[in-house]
Amino acid sequence: MQDNPAVLISEVGPRDGLQSVDSVMPTEHKLRWIDALHAAGLREIEVASFVPAKLLPQMADAAAVVRHAITLPGLTVMALVPNLRGAQAALAAGVHKLTIPCSASAAHSLANVRMTRKQMIATVREIVALRNDIAPRVRIEAGISTAFGCTIQGEVPEDDVVWMAAQAIAAGAEEAGLSDTTGMANPAQVRRLFNRVRAEIGERTGAAHMHNTRGLGLANCLAAYDVGVRTFDASLGGLGGCPYAPGASGNVVTEDLVFMFEAMGLSTGVDLEKLIAARAPLQAGLPGEPVYGMVPQAGLPPGWKQSAGVAA
Ligand code: ZN
Repeated sequence: MQDNPAVLISEVGPRDGLQSVDSVMPTEHKLRWIDALHAAGLREIEVASFVPAKLLPQMADAAAVVRHAITLPGLTVMALVPNLRGAQAALAAGVHKLTIPCSASAAHSLANVRMTRKQMIATVREIVALRNDIAPRVRIEAGISTAFGCTIQGEVPEDDVVWMAAQAIAAGAEEAGLSDTTGMANPAQVRRLFNRVRAEIGERTGAAHMHNTRGLGLANCLAAYDVGVRTFDASLGGLGGCPYAPGASGNVVTEDLVFMFEAMGLSTGVDLEKLIAARAPLQAGLPGEPVYGMVPQAGLPPGWKQSAGVAA
């Protein structure tokens, strides 16, 4: 693998994707799928969400999935944790990085985690303290959700997004990224908001988590790239991300995103053919679940050559 890809693609399918579909992928299929993603060259994968199995039976095997993923060489294993309890379980399982969802929308925060935004920041502080005590090398990212709009309250003031990102950093998170949870972002807004957040927290500005709900996923990723973002969340086959309408994908499709950057000469470290092949174990584990992606559908263009340095 190339030492320094131009961009880091953070695969979120095994978490964001699997928790959004009703069927439960059996553990052995999850492990096979994660192995295939790693073999394609992905070096950061969000593999699970540590939440009560009663709420999300899809994630009941989170600890087992993490324990397997951390054996894969060179892989940063991430998990989503909404609270201290989840963080304890994730750290015990051996994750390398935690992501904590922090809604910029007051209404979404109450609906999603039943906490005010200030309470959520207090939770970040508790998780940071726990991490400092028992696993100081683990990194913590706050994912500022509903950063570009909210289905409950509508518009989310940009000041609120910048405030939430700054509060998360002040609480001890290493990074704060912006999530278009509801698929409402547009490229002008993405540029403006990432610029504003960067002006506030500088190099602690984290990933762009874009959705393709209304077809602007790739355009929004490119807009984020143009203003300095270098880490992009995406999901193989566009799995998950709460699509609102049949035929619409949710998360940005990893295959299409890798194609865009590689076609532009920006290395991702990901082998596109092997990435497309990683759809087979996904589909084997979730028979009948629709997967998306323009590139897998159309195939690679004739004479396709990737930028130097795909995974060995
Ligand atoms: Zn998502």
